[in-house]
Amino acid sequence: MNNKEKHSGGCACGKVRYSSIGKPARTGLCHCRYCQLRTGTAFGISVYFKKENLIIESGNLKKYPFTTESGNTFETSFCTNCGTSMFWTLSHMKDLMGAAGGTYDPPTFWFDIHRELFKRTKAEYVSINCPENHKTSPSYKPIKKDPSRLDGD
Ligand SMILES: [Zn+2]
Ligand SMILES: [Zn+2]
Repeated sequence: MNNKEKHSGGCACGKVRYSSIGKPARTGLCHCRYCQLRTGTAFGISVYFKKENLIIESGNLKKYPFTTESGNTFETSFCTNCGTSMFWTLSHMKDLMGAAGGTYDPPTFWFDIHRELFKRTKAEYVSINCPENHKTSPSYKPIKKDPSRLDGD
């Protein structure tokens, strides 16, 4: 793939539109409770780019920052009109921004998934075989205990 390749996407109502340039810096499939709640489903698909390569072109976003078990700030963004989960940043990955993988226009899943995280809260019926997979995450260093609705224990 040409590394200047542009891919576009947006929210359900179409007000939020964005484009990414080139290959993702990192991708992942995450079964953590934060991603399950952010998406309302079994896992989140994370497509990370350097911030300058993920361009928000239109729409209004509502941000929701919270502190993870590892003490990092996870700030998610939603379309203020239709509520689609769109983007997020993590304080321990300062130069990257994540896009929600399912929000790309077709062909939606044009990227490969590099790793699978937080298998501790994976839904039993989900069968995915990422060569790199983790019970939690390599950056998981809990400094507090979340309530069970957030950590799955
Ligand atoms: Zn929308
Ligand atoms: Zn997650």
